[in-house]
Amino acid sequence: MSQNKRPDGRATSQLRPISIRLGVNKNADGSCFLEWGKNTVVATVNGPRPIFPKHLADQTKAVIDYKYRMACFSVSERKSPVPGKRDKEISLVSGHALEAAVMVEQFPNTVIDVNVLILSADAGTRVAALTAASLAAADAGLPMRGLVSAVAAGRANGELILDLNKEDEDTPDAVDMATAFLMPQRELVLLQMDGCVNKKDCSKILETALKGAEVVYELQKKALVEKYPMDGEIQ
Ligand code: UDP
Repeated sequence: MSQNKRPDGRATSQLRPISIRLGVNKNADGSCFLEWGKNTVVATVNGPRPIFPKHLADQTKAVIDYKYRMACFSVSERKSPVPGKRDKEISLVSGHALEAAVMVEQFPNTVIDVNVLILSADAGTRVAALTAASLAAADAGLPMRGLVSAVAAGRANGELILDLNKEDEDTPDAVDMATAFLMPQRELVLLQMDGCVNKKDCSKILETALKGAEVVYELQKKALVEKYPMDGEIQ
């Protein structure tokens, strides 16, 4: 990673500022409001509850029904409220990633509803959403193996960088790799990539993402400990 500054003044391996608030919605079992640079996200978790129609049930585990949506006003051109292919794809892969963290096997034949709404978008919304959803699940008191800490890394203007904003993503040579790790196990649970990159740079980007996820994880733990003070430490 070079020491060059990016257009927004960040170093190549620097995250945007992240702030987290838990328990923001009294009607949800768990919730999280997260600001990540100019991204603003609210995530709620409800359940587990019995699943209907019953043929959707899984006898071995709870189904995670993850819905990622962007508010109409979240981007400069009005976003249609009807979920498109992108929203559905993000919802599917994010639900699978979250399933790695939640002990779904304890709740057969049920569904856990996870709703994430992007209020304001500046690239990296799927990773901000997943980071918030994981915290909302913890806030809901679901038994968990760890937290999902998500972050994007990639390339812009010839530099390998962490946490691309929209300006970075819009550069002609951009590579955008969205990743999520189950922490503290450091297990990769989501990987999506836009752009072309060689094998060596791909490995470097993944390493950068893991370092970023470790920072995200520390912030997640801090938010949880602030809301739920405890004697022991979260690993
Ligand atoms: N975006 C937009 N309209 C859309 C989808 C995306 O303006 O319908 C913008 C938004 O700022 C988003 C960014 O493009 O954050 C990057 O989108 P991408 O699909 O790469 O997902 P993200 O990086 O947000 O996870």
